[in-house]
Amino acid sequence: MRVLLVEDEPDLGAAIKRTLTQHKYLVDWVLDGNEAWAYLDNSWTQYTVAILDWMLPGISGLELCKQLRQNKNPLPVLMLTAKDTMEDKVAGLDAGADDYLVKPFGMAELLARLRALQRRSPQFQPQQLSVGNLTLDYGNSTVSHNFQADKQVILLTNKEFQLLEYFMKHPNQIVTSEQIRYQLWEVSSETMSNVVAAQMRLLRRKLTNSGCANLIETLHGLGYRLNLTP
Ligand code: CA
Repeated sequence: MRVLLVEDEPDLGAAIKRTLTQHKYLVDWVLDGNEAWAYLDNSWTQYTVAILDWMLPGISGLELCKQLRQNKNPLPVLMLTAKDTMEDKVAGLDAGADDYLVKPFGMAELLARLRALQRRSPQFQPQQLSVGNLTLDYGNSTVSHNFQADKQVILLTNKEFQLLEYFMKHPNQIVTSEQIRYQLWEVSSETMSNVVAAQMRLLRRKLTNSGCANLIETLHGLGYRLNLTP
């Protein structure tokens, strides 16, 4: 799950990013409302949820939320703010926010709110994703497959998990390295061009070692394809 975090307090932003990353979210963190809009208003990065601080340099979190809704963007929004009067909560919800968290809050509560949004929103993922004979389990970061009637469970790292999830959401389609890089690596990170190929090697090695060779095909000059029979 990819999260856009917009929080201008460096310590809080870093703490949230660290917590979410530990819980397998991929987080793009920006500190400024104008920059946040550039992240939200593009078609090449798809977020599962946005966490918007209310008071920001540039465009406020409230305005960001209004602009999203004016553009008919249904992205779930969790607002963060120190304001805790009833009027402010109403303004936040009127602007189209899905939920509201008053500072200071504990990370356990933030995670619980995200899970609650997850249950409400069809854009969020369920506990498992099954395609063909592959099943990804979000709870314990594994993929299992029934290969020749023999069930194998493979433990994946965060990045391997995200990579396989991306393929399972685009089965039997050619996906390019560029697409994978844009979706799975932070926009701000200095990503080298071979990072996708390196991660692909690690994922393939695990799949091959568990009897699942040739699941992901390389189409030279085009990209990769997860081949699954429905
Ligand atoms: Ca702020």
